[in-house]
Amino acid sequence: MKNLLLFNTLSKKIETFKSIGETVKIYTCGPTVYRDAHIGNMRTYILADVLKKTLSHLGYKVIHVKNITDVGHMRQEMLEQGEDKIVAAAIREGKSAKDIASNYTEKFFADEKKLNISKADFNPKATEHIDEMLNMIDKLVKKKIAYVNNANVYFDITKFKNYGKLSGNIANLSTLNNNVEIDPSKLNPNDFALWKSADKDRELIWDSKYGPGFPGWHIECSAMSQKYLGEHFDIHTGGVDNIFPHHEGEIAQSESIFNSKHVNYWIHGQHLLSEGIKMSKSKQNEYLIADIFERSIDPLAFRYLCLMTNYRTKLNFTFSSLKSAQKGLNKLRHKYWIFKSSNEKINQNKTHSWFEKIDDELINNLNTSKVLSLLWKLTKSDLNGSEICHIFEYIDPIICLDFKTHYEEKNNHTIPTEEYKTRKTLRINKDYLNSDSIRSDSKTNTKLKYYDNKNGDYSVKKLSEYENFNHNKYISGSVDIKSNLFSISKFDLSIGIVVDEYIEDFERCIDSIIKFIPENLSYEILIALNGTTDLQNQNLKNRHSNNPNLFFIAIDPVCGAGSVRNILIKKALGKNIFLIDTSLEITGDIFNSILIDLKNINIGMIGPYGLKTNDLHHFHEISESKEYVDAIQLYLMAFRREIINWSGLFRENFRFYRNLDIDFSFQIKNAKLKLLSNPDLEIIRHDHSVWENTHPKTRDELSKDNYKRFLDKWKDYKHLLNNAK
Ligand code: AMP
Ligand code: ZN
Repeated sequence: MKNLLLFNTLSKKIETFKSIGETVKIYTCGPTVYRDAHIGNMRTYILADVLKKTLSHLGYKVIHVKNITDVGHMRQEMLEQGEDKIVAAAIREGKSAKDIASNYTEKFFADEKKLNISKADFNPKATEHIDEMLNMIDKLVKKKIAYVNNANVYFDITKFKNYGKLSGNIANLSTLNNNVEIDPSKLNPNDFALWKSADKDRELIWDSKYGPGFPGWHIECSAMSQKYLGEHFDIHTGGVDNIFPHHEGEIAQSESIFNSKHVNYWIHGQHLLSEGIKMSKSKQNEYLIADIFERSIDPLAFRYLCLMTNYRTKLNFTFSSLKSAQKGLNKLRHKYWIFKSSNEKINQNKTHSWFEKIDDELINNLNTSKVLSLLWKLTKSDLNGSEICHIFEYIDPIICLDFKTHYEEKNNHTIPTEEYKTRKTLRINKDYLNSDSIRSDSKTNTKLKYYDNKNGDYSVKKLSEYENFNHNKYISGSVDIKSNLFSISKFDLSIGIVVDEYIEDFERCIDSIIKFIPENLSYEILIALNGTTDLQNQNLKNRHSNNPNLFFIAIDPVCGAGSVRNILIKKALGKNIFLIDTSLEITGDIFNSILIDLKNINIGMIGPYGLKTNDLHHFHEISESKEYVDAIQLYLMAFRREIINWSGLFRENFRFYRNLDIDFSFQIKNAKLKLLSNPDLEIIRHDHSVWENTHPKTRDELSKDNYKRFLDKWKDYKHLLNNAK
């Protein structure tokens, strides 16, 4: 048996895996089931799946446990993030917490299935293991490692001398709780809850000797792992965010009770990001398997995308990269399809050496990206088709990209013998005109693809829905746009507008622009349809079909504020660009006056709403007269297109629009250009619908995140301020 090398978070080193017993025991922190698991969560479960299948492939027996968190930090998160809308809605509909949990558990299993993640041997539910948890809590209290205060039970971290050994967080503990209100019943702010007394309105509540309450999050996994895998087992997996406090807490609890090592190998997957930030529900940058499915993309293309990146590397998800993954997977499956038709003798020596090569990559800390690149290499090798397919089939039980099933169920297609014969004869006689006319696809089914061989023979493939879909129909991010930044200007002006769901705002805005744009200017208006439906897009296009200056760009899924503006800028061909927010209504010729000011090469950007600051903390609006400022607000930003070459594009990790403007303004100032505010421009500013329709708590949080992003980058750039000495 080959040795598996794994990176162990505990030792922070690559180690050679040795199992404790004959059967390898794996525990995976499972989903929290009051919401859908997003594809970031799924990346972590794909890791556990590949690990488990690799172990089986190497000859181990494996027991895998993946818990279902249907209690505990559920409430905690809800308290921190505001009431969860789905839970609130479900409760309004008269559903119980149990119904909600079982609904999301089923959805989770269905999602896993779509990704070919095989089911764990046990999926224990936290709510069914409260006794086991209380039992452990009692032991900790008895050992005086835990203490009771106000009917809450806490783990005293000073009683476990190795606290911090997994995360190395021990030095930072004093700062970890900076943003959290400290629970006054704790001895030490970093002690964690084992049991929380519950308020009466809580639905999930249990009796205990400490009083009615519910268990802490970490104790769940200590209790369930012990029950199904024992006091000491081989492998524990999760995402890197689980390292602290969750897994640190789990080690402290289990090792304090059993006086033995809890887990030998801690394997943690890096995060899936979206627009540069960890994907999560609270950051509103999450995507679900359903989002992938809806767009006619094979969920296995997501598995393929994950496998192309080492699990310890952050992976920034975009629909554009997913579409590329789909194309790659289609091609690889197509290669398999071609080779499958050959019926040649397999040379075992040849295939064996490829098995070796593939295994060597797999056992090297699950280097799946290398495994995939070997498959690509294989398709170009001198092995015969049957050998190549044999090797694909050897590795597919681990990577699970369904080469064979795809071939058998979806792609293999035979056409009626008569038709086949006639067409072949015509092709042998080089009568291509007539042979082309007898193609079933031209008459009946457009999903057939004909592959004509040189000798007159041909094969027919039924295209799967994923091969037949036009994935280029929508722009999914600025990376999809070929930049025109270095192209010669074709117009005086490009106006860029982002339309979100508030169509009426857009109509008011566009009508006012068209009314006042002077005839002496050549212009294009680029309209990014970001969050509108297909029907709305069609209606908009129809309504404006007689205006040759309007160009619509359909975006799906919704892009963040930075990314969508970059789409407009990269597409623009005007000498000058005006980005206009749909909350504005133009009431006079603002265009010529701005363009005159933009002729001054020292000026980088102009807008009606300027901001000034003395300290980067308070930005105040300028409303008196034309003057140089520290930032131009997003409502209207006018600049020469060329300045982007110096300032750079918008930063795309600003998904929410707030504070993106000050960030972009600083980029321009950093390029040694000035910002001019001109409050005299004839404009009415209406309510900003996105702001008005975002929950105050959410918009505050998102604004704060963006402000932090701004400050992280620019805090040492006070010399750029207008009033800098
Ligand atoms: P949760 O349901 O939040 O407990 O998360 C379930 C699993 O997904 C945990 O192992 C997390 O560490 C992991 N996870 C959460 N967010 C991400 C992400 N953006 N990328 C990868 N894994 C994640
Ligand atoms: Zn856990």
